[in-house]
Amino acid sequence: MTMTSIAPGVYAIPVGIVNVFVIDAGDLTVIDTGTPGSAKHILAAAHQLGRPPADIRHILLTHMHADHTGSLKALKEATGATAHMHPADAALTQRGEVMRPARPGPGILRRLLFHLSGLGMFPTRVEAATVEHELQDGQVLPFAGDLQVIYTPGHSQGHVAFLWPHEGGVLFAGDSASNIGRLGPSILYEDYAEGMLSLARVSRLSFDAACFGHGPAIIGNANARFRQQWGQ
Ligand SMILES: [Zn+2]
Ligand SMILES: [Zn+2]
Repeated sequence: MTMTSIAPGVYAIPVGIVNVFVIDAGDLTVIDTGTPGSAKHILAAAHQLGRPPADIRHILLTHMHADHTGSLKALKEATGATAHMHPADAALTQRGEVMRPARPGPGILRRLLFHLSGLGMFPTRVEAATVEHELQDGQVLPFAGDLQVIYTPGHSQGHVAFLWPHEGGVLFAGDSASNIGRLGPSILYEDYAEGMLSLARVSRLSFDAACFGHGPAIIGNANARFRQQWGQ
């Protein structure tokens, strides 16, 4: 596991097929938790930053899929952190559910990955976990450096992205888009048209770097790349 720096105090931790992010703003905020069994990697990253588990105070979830909520319960137990999520997806996570019906995004690669994900690459349940706080569109969080919540439904009904408003802006896109090979739509959508409307909204925001659940971050002029694809 190699932790990479996205911006001062913002780190990416690749855990298998998915990326987890840490924001250090005095206390630590973790964005997404990886598949089941990833908590130890996130705690190791905190340790690498010289921080004990209890310094992780907040866990933000972009959405309810198993590769993002898989280690929520374990990470909460190890740290005492509280969880924040959009209520539409939190309803599933609190029951240990990880999926609504969805269809592949456009193109052969996405269809292939979609079918692979149906063949057991992803767990069909995770440990149910309590979500203490509901996220709403436009909300500015009182931690993690005034991180802003951007409601981005489409990939899932309760999907949110986050905008960190420092150093030119860092977008945490979650699975609203992906950067597997190149910047493009996600592997799957509950509602593709809604997902594209969300990306058009995101393209109007101001950010220099963009981080994804899947694929490497784009650092420098990320906003222009989004506008090229989805700007209106
Ligand atoms: Zn997802
Ligand atoms: Zn994902």
